[in-house]
Amino acid sequence: LFIAFEGIDGAGKTTQLLRIAAWLEAQGFAVVVTREPGGTRIGDAVRAILLDPRHQEMAPRTEALLYAASRAQHVEELIRPALMRGEIVLCDRFVDASIAYQGAGLGLGEAWVEALNDYALGGLRPDLTLWFDLDWATARARLHARADGRGLDRVERRDRAFFERVADAFERLWQADPQARRRIDASRTPEEIEQEIRAMVWNLIQQ
Ligand code: C5P
Ligand code: MG
Repeated sequence: LFIAFEGIDGAGKTTQLLRIAAWLEAQGFAVVVTREPGGTRIGDAVRAILLDPRHQEMAPRTEALLYAASRAQHVEELIRPALMRGEIVLCDRFVDASIAYQGAGLGLGEAWVEALNDYALGGLRPDLTLWFDLDWATARARLHARADGRGLDRVERRDRAFFERVADAFERLWQADPQARRRIDASRTPEEIEQEIRAMVWNLIQQ
């Protein structure tokens, strides 16, 4: 079972991912918690390149390729083997983030980024993608509260218009396939959100 957590920065993905992982482990499941970009040694090295605020000169296509490269390694080295062992994989961001951030946010085109990732993924898709839907202002406030001290990364520094394009793309992806992707109203309390996700995940496990 492979579940991806998606949405703009500050939407609450990581908080929920950790809660759901703890709950699943308490139920006796083997759970792999991972993230993108990253998840492997090579992926973490690519992540450092991607998020370094000094890399202002990075071209959009370079950015899209680096995310896809991190993902290809992640799928081969970590995700596919874990799924083969029957483990549950919870991934903080996956292919939808690329379609939304690089395809729509940077304006590369969602179809191009999708095609690039078809190659990187080698046929693997999440069984479920949770889209954390939250307005920009609320997400920003959460992000600033969290980033306190460590600062925003290269992508988080982008303007509101960028994140509005990203959010619109997440919404289009969800509308195109509301079965494989579920919209989570991320403005609610962590407890309410966790209960809803637990029910969704439990349904999938029962199938
Ligand atoms: O989820 P997290 O914030 O740790 O992700 C790392 C950073 O990479 C974020 O600031 C996010 O905006 C950015 N990102 C991106 N495109 C992706 C995935 C993540 O710009 N495909
Ligand atoms: Mg972030």
